[in-house]
Amino acid sequence: MDCIFCKIVNKELPADIVYENENVLAFKDIHPKAAVHILVVPKIHIESINSENSENIVGDLILAAKNIIKRDNITGYKLLFNIGREGGQMVDHLHMHLLAGNPS
Ligand code: 5GP
Ligand code: ZN
Repeated sequence: MDCIFCKIVNKELPADIVYENENVLAFKDIHPKAAVHILVVPKIHIESINSENSENIVGDLILAAKNIIKRDNITGYKLLFNIGREGGQMVDHLHMHLLAGNPS
């Protein structure tokens, strides 16, 4: 499948990976919009929050984000989903943005 985030999950494309567990991979956004800008993605391909069963997967993404912020001593942060083209979603593999700190 021609999905860049699947390729990153499968280690076919390089990424700056900051966290991984059985269900989730997290890596630095290639165009960071904050000092910390991490993308947290499920290892399985699912298109967006609009997809069936996304609500069963989002908990894994949030748990991963909580592990990252605890590990990295991040005290305040934003979690963001862009959904659909008109919602600003450019990559059709469900992902949660973890943003913290000043724009860089
Ligand atoms: P969206 O707009 O779909 O919510 O966010 C997609 C994000 O993926 C953007 O912030 C963009 O900078 C990031 N991105 C796109 N392609 C790549 C890539 O190949 N590697 C990484 N690390 N980030 C990417
Ligand atoms: Zn994918």
